[in-house]
Amino acid sequence: MVSSLVRLSSGDLSSAKGYTVHFGRVFNADGSLLDEVLVTVFRAPHSYTGEDAAEISCHASSYIASELIHLLTKAGARYAEPGEFTRRAFLNGKMDLAQAEAVADVIASETSASHRVAMNQLRGHYSQKLEALKAELTDMASLLELELDFSEEDVEFAQREQLISLVKSTLEHVDSLASSFRLGNIIKKGVPVAIVGPPNAGKSTLLNSLVGEERAIVSDIAGTTRDTIEETVNIDGILFRFIDTAGIRESGDTIEQLGIQRSLAKISEASIIIGLLDSISSADALIKSCSQLCSQIDFGAQTLIIALNKLDLAGPERVNKNVSIINNVVNSHGYKAVITSLQASSADSVETLKKLMKSAVPDVFNTLDASFVTNERHYNALCESSNALKAVLKSLTSGIPTELIAEDLRSAISSISSILGHDLQDPDTILHTIFSRHCIGK
Ligand code: GDP
Repeated sequence: MVSSLVRLSSGDLSSAKGYTVHFGRVFNADGSLLDEVLVTVFRAPHSYTGEDAAEISCHASSYIASELIHLLTKAGARYAEPGEFTRRAFLNGKMDLAQAEAVADVIASETSASHRVAMNQLRGHYSQKLEALKAELTDMASLLELELDFSEEDVEFAQREQLISLVKSTLEHVDSLASSFRLGNIIKKGVPVAIVGPPNAGKSTLLNSLVGEERAIVSDIAGTTRDTIEETVNIDGILFRFIDTAGIRESGDTIEQLGIQRSLAKISEASIIIGLLDSISSADALIKSCSQLCSQIDFGAQTLIIALNKLDLAGPERVNKNVSIINNVVNSHGYKAVITSLQASSADSVETLKKLMKSAVPDVFNTLDASFVTNERHYNALCESSNALKAVLKSLTSGIPTELIAEDLRSAISSISSILGHDLQDPDTILHTIFSRHCIGK
C-alpha cells in the first residue's frame, strides 16, 4: 500500500530490503505534489511487531500529516487501536506479556526510579526471574508426574524430603517477588503521603507549598477540604503522592464525618504521614491531636513526621515548648517522633520537611537490580501461585495423594505462566484489558 503511494526516483518500495531508508514523493489525487518523504522499510521478523512494516517521515505540518493519513486510509489503511503494535509484537512472539506491559510503563514513567524499573522489565530481566521460577516448578511437577505414572507400582520416585525443600525455596522466591509489590507500586505511582491534622492546621496551604500549585482549596472555614485530592511532587528524582485529608477531628456533620472516615482510611495507605499541627493551639489540643494520630499509625511500617505549623505566629520559644509536648506524647506510645517546625504558607520554610520526607524513603530506589513487581495483575498471579504452593507443601507433609498435589503444582505454574502471557485462560479479555490502556501508536 505504501509502495503505491510513495513514488521513488527509481525502483519500487515493494521490493525494498529491510532496514533501508528511501527518498520518495507523495502526490495528491489531482497529481500535485503533497510532500517529499523518507520511508524506512522493515522486513519480518525484524521489526517491532515482527511483521513487514514501513514508517513514513514527512515534513512537520499537521496539514501534510492529515492529508497523508487521508490518502493512506483511502488506499485501505486504518488507524491502529490502542496498544495494537505492542499486542501484535506479543502475539508474534517478539516479547512476552510482562515486557509488553512494560512498554506502557516506560512511556508513563515520571521519575528515574520508575523509568529504571520499567526498562528492566522491558529488557526482559524481570521475565528471566519468572522463567527461572517456572523452570523450578516444572522440574518439581515432572518429578511428581513420574511418581504418578508409576503409582500402581508404589514407587516414590520423588524423594519427599527433597521435594519439600524445593517447594519451600521456590515459595520463598515467589513470596519475596510478591512482597516487592508494595515498593514497586510506590516506585511506579509515587510514595503515598498523607497530610493529616485538625481543621485549620494548614494542610491545604502546606500541600500548595509542596506541589507549588493552588490546587487544593484553602479556606478559613474549618473543614472545607472535604474531598480527598491527590497531587504528586518530584523531590530529587523521587515521586511523592500526597493524599490530602479532611482532618481527624470528630464531628456530627455527616459530610465532614465522611471526610474524616476517608482520611483515616487513607492513613493506612500511606507510607509517610505528615501530622500537621497548629503551633498556636492549646497544649491540650496538641496532645489530643497527637494522641489520635499516634493511635492510627503503624510505626513499624510507616513514618510519622510531626510538623508544627505557623512558626511565624507562634515564634521559636513556643514552638520549642510544643516540640517537647509532642515528644512526650509520642514517647508515651513507645516511639520516637520526627519533629519539624515550619510556616506552611512559605515554600522556603517547607524545604526541611521535603528533606525529611526524602530520608524516610528506603534506599532501594537506587539499587541497580531493580526487579520489582509494579503491576497488580502480576502481584495477584504471584499470590495465587504462592497459595497453590502452600497447599502443595501442606499436602506433601500430610500424605495427601500425589494426584492432588500435582494439581496444585500445575496451578502454581499456570499462575506464573499467565504473567508472561503463556497459556492464558481467557486471552481475549486479558489482552483487551492490558492493551486498551496503551496509547495509540505503541
Ligand atoms: P486546613 O483546614 O488544615 O486545610 O487549613 P488551611 O490550609 O485551609 O489553612 C487555614 C488557615 O491558616 C488559612 O487562613 C491559612 O492561610 C492559614 N495558614 C496556614 N499556614 C499558615 C502559616 O504557616 N502561617 C500563618 N500565619 N497562617 C497560615
